[in-house]
Parts: sequence; C-alpha cells; structure tokens
Amino acid sequence: MNPDKERTLVIVKPDGVQRGLIGEVVSRLERRGLKIVGVKMLKMDDGLAAKHYEAHVGKPFYEPLAKFMTSSPVVAVAAQGRGAVRLVRNMMGALSPEESAAGTIRGDFAVSKRYNVVHGSDSPESGEREVSLFFSPDEIFDYDRDIDNWLRQE
Ligand code: ADP
Ligand code: MG
Repeated sequence: MNPDKERTLVIVKPDGVQRGLIGEVVSRLERRGLKIVGVKMLKMDDGLAAKHYEAHVGKPFYEPLAKFMTSSPVVAVAAQGRGAVRLVRNMMGALSPEESAAGTIRGDFAVSKRYNVVHGSDSPESGEREVSLFFSPDEIFDYDRDIDNWLRQE
C-alpha cells in the first residue's frame, strides 16, 4: 500500500456536533495537512455501531456507548496522508480527561470519558475497515493537491 494514502476514520460524535465543534475538528485536520477525502453527516444505527465498535461489544461501557453514538447525527470524515492514523490519535488526545493534554481535541474540549467529541481509528488496518464501513467507494475522493509539495519532505 502507498504510505501516502494511509486512511483514518474520524467521527465528530453526537456531543461534538451538538456543541458546534464540527468545524473545529475538521479545521484542525486540514490545518495539520491531512487530506480530507470523504465527509458525510449520518445517524448511526445499532448495526453500524456494533460493526464499528466490534472490539468493544460486550464490554461494560459498550451499551451506553452505542446509545450515545446512535442518539443523534455524527459527522464522519475520511482523512488521508502518511502516518494519518497516528497523527490523528495524537491530535485527539487520551481517553481519560485527566490524561488528555491541553492542545489536543479532547484535552481542549472534553471532560468525560464517554462524551469525548471525537473518534479516530487506532491502526491503519482499522482505518481501512472503518472508512469502508462508513463510505462507499464513490463517496471517497482521491485528488492531487499542489500544496503536498510543501507538506512533506523525503
Ligand atoms: P478511543 O476512542 O480513544 O479509541 P476506545 O476505543 O477504548 O477509546 O473506546 C471507544 C469509546 O468508548 C471511547 O471513545 C469512549 O466514548 C467510550 N469509552 C471507552 N471506555 C470507556 C469508559 N471506561 N467509560 C465510558 N466510556 C468509555
Ligand atoms: Mg478506539
């Protein structure tokens, strides 16, 4: 796989949408230099929540998590670039509000473990899987940006 095309799924969760943080999250991805290759608003249903969070089904926090994620619309963003998964994980900040550093999305906007504004894939493999779960191939746009010459060096 072309390392410049690593993809991650970012979700602005229901709390982020309702708090007016869609632009904040998308803007941070753009300013960092990630290429936005897909965007949509949708309401997740139980089936999608179970597939998306398949690793967490059965855990004690899963039921309230699924209820939260399906409660109102989310915005799904497919972001692409070399190291996209780890870049976004670092920009998101830690799950625990006591641990999430200021300057990260969670560190700047979240004090709850559950209501934490943003999701980001945790590995390139999850990124591929989750992007294909939320987007059909014709909803993903791979395009060239002249500015990429300024964002990456060999
Ligand atoms: P992350 O979103 O940082 O990848 P996880 O994959 O471990 O974290 O968990 C998925 C989501 O489930 C979290 O973002 C959070 O919304 C919720 N969650 C995880 N652990 C807890 C917990 N202990 N209590 C409440 N909600 C949790
Ligand atoms: Mg996770």
